[in-house]
Amino acid sequence: MSWADKLRNAIALGTSPLIRGLLDYEGAMGDIRALDRVSFAAWFRRHGGSEGSLAKLWNPIAYALGFIDTENISARCMLTIFQMFATKTEASKLNLLKGSPDTYLHGPIVKYLTDRGTKIHTRCPVREVRFEGDRVTGLTVYQDGQETTITADAYVAACDVPGVQRLLPAAWRQHPEFDNIYQLSAVPVATVQLRFDGWVTEFNPAHQKQTAATGLDNLLYTADAEFSCFTDLALSSPADYYREGEGSLLQAVLTPGDPFIAMPQEQIVERVLAQVHELFPSARSLQLRWSNVVKLAQSLYREAPGMDVYRPNQRTPIANFFLAGSYTQQDYIDSMEGATLSGRRCAQAIAQVYRPALN
Ligand SMILES: Cc1cc2nc3c(=O)[nH]c(=O)nc-3n(C[C@H](O)[C@H](O)[C@H](O)COP(=O)(O)OP(=O)(O)OC[C@H]3O[C@@H](n4cnc5c(N)ncnc54)[C@H](O)[C@@H]3O)c2cc1C
Repeated sequence: MSWADKLRNAIALGTSPLIRGLLDYEGAMGDIRALDRVSFAAWFRRHGGSEGSLAKLWNPIAYALGFIDTENISARCMLTIFQMFATKTEASKLNLLKGSPDTYLHGPIVKYLTDRGTKIHTRCPVREVRFEGDRVTGLTVYQDGQETTITADAYVAACDVPGVQRLLPAAWRQHPEFDNIYQLSAVPVATVQLRFDGWVTEFNPAHQKQTAATGLDNLLYTADAEFSCFTDLALSSPADYYREGEGSLLQAVLTPGDPFIAMPQEQIVERVLAQVHELFPSARSLQLRWSNVVKLAQSLYREAPGMDVYRPNQRTPIANFFLAGSYTQQDYIDSMEGATLSGRRCAQAIAQVYRPALN
């Protein structure tokens, strides 16, 4: 970015609600929520921000956060994140897990729950929500090749957007709270993994073939490739991804994902490899040993301008049926943090109904 871009960036941020947020968090959040109908790009230009900053800085950030660019992401969504980064210092660290999420993220949560008697059933989709009047009477689930019915005091649907749209009974669309959910959509994304025989982000060729992992050890962003953010997992998340005798395991997130959903895997790998070589010319001598592409036609909730009003509350018009999931009402972007916040709000909603004395 040029100095002029940086100066105009400072002016835009200096006149944003973030400054108020340093002293009055909730007041600033009110200002930020009111900006949902505006795209971040429109808001930024209005505050003096430059095209250079949008292209070089803010688009890669928007792509990394919501898989869409600054013209398509709401100002509310972006400013909420910066407000949290500015005021909650523990939230402003970029980092990766020591190893696979299954072990280092889900593992401890699953242990905590199962130690307390929780039973978790996977590969067990809910096929139908049964109801009478304004109460759910049971869930039809598919398990081990057969359908069974589960009954409970309270039911929580913690789905993604396409999942909840399929799950809700059609008759419930008479309630605007449920009907609004069908206004929401999800964005496509593709991720690529590339394993090399040396260290891609190590600039010193003399160290590129060494055994110990070396290079840039964090999540990386770029405005100059079709992948907005990437990392060398062998370096940044070594417990499961470093393999002696092998080198970098680059993981790159392709955004916007739309063009890649129909593209053959070999073509995607070829394009990404060419762009890796452009970013890291010293890696051209390394051999690609293995590659993989994962495509998700519907992933995150699309944080487009004006969509916030359609996000449902965790408490619904059905007395014993609750919603959770990142797409439900909560301030943070669709993320693990957003999903957690939605879960807390859902737990509060359930407590309000079943344990009003606790509130
Ligand atoms: C490529 C990629 C990278 C990401 N990186 C990060 C990151 O670095 N940090 C971060 O914080 N977030 C990241 N995210 C976002 C994060 O994964 C999501 O925001 C988070 O998983 C949302 O959690 P959730 O519980 O709301 O929904 P989900 O995790 O989508 O869970 C919803 C679940 O409901 C299930 N479901 C739907 N319908 C039914 C049904 N009828 N019966 C039973 N189950 C059903 C689905 O199968 C799904 O498992 C990333 C997402 C992607 C796609």
